Amino acid sequence: MVNRPKEKKPAKRYYRKRVELLRLIDKIKLWPSRRGLLHGIKTVEIAGAQAKITTHCNKTFWVTDSRNSRAARWLRNKWFKGTCGDCRIPDWKLAKYSSTQFKRHYGATLQKRSEP
Ligand SMILES: [Zn+2]
Repeated sequence: MVNRPKEKKPAKRYYRKRVELLRLIDKIKLWPSRRGLLHGIKTVEIAGAQAKITTHCNKTFWVTDSRNSRAARWLRNKWFKGTCGDCRIPDWKLAKYSSTQFKRHYGATLQKRSEP
């Protein structure tokens, strides 16, 4: 490993637009609430096509896997008014998220079975 100087900006990362919601939230650990607040996810327990999400502000709820749900769209489009004060999402996580891009034809699908 070569020691590189610390980069100020996190590396851009790309995900497919049609990535599955559960894989996406398991990866980026952020949840856009209906009220427009971004929460930090503490745990994701995947059970089939559903997952039990626990946020850092200790809210627990189930989500169903979908590429086109409200949450999936809001996450892709980065629609949020603010961040949850109780979750205390670290700046590096927000920076990482804001440098994440969703592309139709390029990027990780986060789907092991479709990668050769
Ligand atoms: Zn929260």
